[in-house]
Amino acid sequence: MAAFDGLVVIVTGGSAGIGLASALRFAEEGARVLITGRNAEALDTACRQHPSLRALVADGHDPGSPARIVDAALGLGGRIDVLVNNAGTGVVAPLVAATAQSIDEVFSLNVRGPALLAAAAVPHLERTRGSILNVSSTGGTKAGPNISIYSGSKAAIEHMTRCWALELAPLGIRVNAIAPGPVKTGFLRNQMRLPPDTIPAHEERERKAVPLGRRGHVDDIAQWMLDLARPTNTWMTGQVVVVDGGFGIA
Ligand code: NDP
Repeated sequence: MAAFDGLVVIVTGGSAGIGLASALRFAEEGARVLITGRNAEALDTACRQHPSLRALVADGHDPGSPARIVDAALGLGGRIDVLVNNAGTGVVAPLVAATAQSIDEVFSLNVRGPALLAAAAVPHLERTRGSILNVSSTGGTKAGPNISIYSGSKAAIEHMTRCWALELAPLGIRVNAIAPGPVKTGFLRNQMRLPPDTIPAHEERERKAVPLGRRGHVDDIAQWMLDLARPTNTWMTGQVVVVDGGFGIA
């Protein structure tokens, strides 16, 4: 019997990158997985990669999404065992360029969305003694110029992780986070909106700053996602696991 047989997992932002890699690993280990994103075509393409993936178009900025996501997940098996708050966005810009809109956009997807979805999922996670996994970033603790809005949102999700862990422990719900370092995905282009011609140099700078000498692969993160959510991992909560090739301590 596979570790996640019969369990239902939600992965927001599951049509690409770290979310898709994690959703596939959960599915390979027996889970039925609901993936969300904004682009229906990308979700359909993702679902073709494994028969246990199901998709819902749901924008993490929309306060109406959590109820729809929870309903869709319950439709997969009448239960919710794991919520992965993965969808995220960012901005690379100096503080003096920040606007109300640029700040709100990052905090609405990276902080408000996960909080509202977690709130909607709690009654169901209580029934299964399930767990919540938040996706942070090395930026959640490592300071850097031109990244304060994104990093601040990730610091917020890390601290919410600890607060929720205490609040939800009496309900039997574990809450942990993963903080990836620089990983090869479309994030710099699609979410950080870096000009495409600047991305190779940016990636090379990141590679050189990683003590283990390479940028991460999505599976470097997905394997930890599974381990943290594993039903046998019953005594770990409120932790942020940094998986970054040493980037954060350099
Ligand atoms: P990708 O750009 O590869 O994938 C992002 C996913 O999120 C896609 O499925 C995208 O689908 C979805 N998404 C984006 N915006 C929304 C939205 N408003 N509502 C719902 N879904 C959305 O990103 P990564 O896999 O790299 O990033 C995933 C997480 O990992 C993020 O939280 C990010 O901050 C974090 N992270 C990434 C790092 C990296 O180097 N890649 C490093 C550290 C942390 P669609 O566009 O169709 O909505």
